[in-house]
Amino acid sequence: MGPPGAGKGTQAARLAARLQVPAISTGDIFRANIEAATPLGMTAKKYSDTGELVPDEVVNAMVRDRLSQPDTVQGFLLDGYPRTVAQVRELDAMLAEQGHALDVVVHLYVDADEVIRRLALRAQQVGRADDTEAVVRHRLAVYQEQTRPVLDVYRQRGLLVDVNGLGPLDEVTERLVAAVTRGGSSQP
Ligand code: AMP
Repeated sequence: MGPPGAGKGTQAARLAARLQVPAISTGDIFRANIEAATPLGMTAKKYSDTGELVPDEVVNAMVRDRLSQPDTVQGFLLDGYPRTVAQVRELDAMLAEQGHALDVVVHLYVDADEVIRRLALRAQQVGRADDTEAVVRHRLAVYQEQTRPVLDVYRQRGLLVDVNGLGPLDEVTERLVAAVTRGGSSQP
């Protein structure tokens, strides 16, 4: 978890490779569907273009389907999900059904100025439709309103680990590997 521009996508891919589990990025799945102009992509585009969250039912159904695939049996890393408290509840239900449980929830944090700087750079380099200044500002507000409470839920459960996302890529990856190995705050 972390605000837009924290480096979630980049670091999720690196961490998943180290842990030898699939990285499941809801944002990437939406972007692939938008690219391929599927019905799911059409729906997602309406929301993601303006920086809104895609409705919970749509995201939940997509994650449920993805987690039912055989490559998740030995574990998986979720990137960008859950992002609302309603998604947390739905994920709880999915995991209970499958006999899985979350080991740790990582909060990758960077300060607001750095987020803006990184997203401006990404806008130039990658050209993502939702990296324009107005949309970025809205995505940050949506994060504060809808996703911050998710951090609190996992913190109360003792699953949350805060990791500083500022610094060289490799260094951040090592911090993440250490944090995931150590586990959530309730664990020794
Ligand atoms: P991301 O690549 O994680 O920044 O996601 C890009 C966009 O996809 C977000 O701004 C949302 O519109 C949508 N999205 C990704 N994950 C979720 C989620 N868990 N819930 C709702 N919308 C999502």
